[in-house]
Amino acid sequence: MLEGVFYLGLGLIVGSFLNVLAVRFHDGRSLGGRSVCVSCGQTIYWYDLIPVLSWILLLGKCRSCGQDISLLYPLTEVACGAAFLLIGLAHMPFFSTVLALPIAALLIVIARYDLSHMLIPNVWVYLFAALSLSAALYPMESRDFVFNVLAGPVAAVPFLALWFVSRGAWMGLGDAKLALGMGWLLGLEGGVTAILSAFVLGAVVGLGLMFFSSSHLLHRTLGVHGDKKVTMKSEIPFGPFLIISCFIVWFAHMYGIQTLELFLWWSFW
Ligand SMILES: [Zn+2]
Repeated sequence: MLEGVFYLGLGLIVGSFLNVLAVRFHDGRSLGGRSVCVSCGQTIYWYDLIPVLSWILLLGKCRSCGQDISLLYPLTEVACGAAFLLIGLAHMPFFSTVLALPIAALLIVIARYDLSHMLIPNVWVYLFAALSLSAALYPMESRDFVFNVLAGPVAAVPFLALWFVSRGAWMGLGDAKLALGMGWLLGLEGGVTAILSAFVLGAVVGLGLMFFSSSHLLHRTLGVHGDKKVTMKSEIPFGPFLIISCFIVWFAHMYGIQTLELFLWWSFW
């Protein structure tokens, strides 16, 4: 119980930090100094910086200028809180837990950034791939060694091909780098399962967005680019779908749930 509260609290705080990281990375600002409202520049006081709670109490609006605060802020905090809680409560060796926490944080900040800017920053995705490779090499059992190391490149190759063939129109190079890390994190079968699920999820959500695009709710609250209608030609970032699927398969592995993977696997073949 106490352990759960600790991991949830840590995740909410880290999630709050990820919001700051994403906004300041985009603006090219340093991480030092107080947070300000992105609309009016007013310094935000500590009592308006409590994860999730502040956003709810402020009804999603800036205290000083009344501008909407993106739903991405509380979503990032909730996602990080939930991820840390699930990692903390999974029965894993201490080293695996310590490695899993920053991996989860990186995945969440990458998804958040890709949603608002259609871009996956190199520094985060390389760090994710490096940590995932460390996870793939631990514990080092010689029999799985080559297989684990190959899982990353094998998962990335289809994305590289799509990127190359479409000259970056269908798939960004960032997605290929993300798939590389996913292969290392989830292993070959898990990685392929997650990638296939991401395509299905992307198609379902893409169709849904086209269907409901007359409502501007999504655009306003999530800050999805521009106020144009979503059509077949709209660019929807693929990173968040890869990351959601990655989390599902990763947590299934962590909790020894085979059924999900089998279910996904068989429903595609
Ligand atoms: Zn403001």
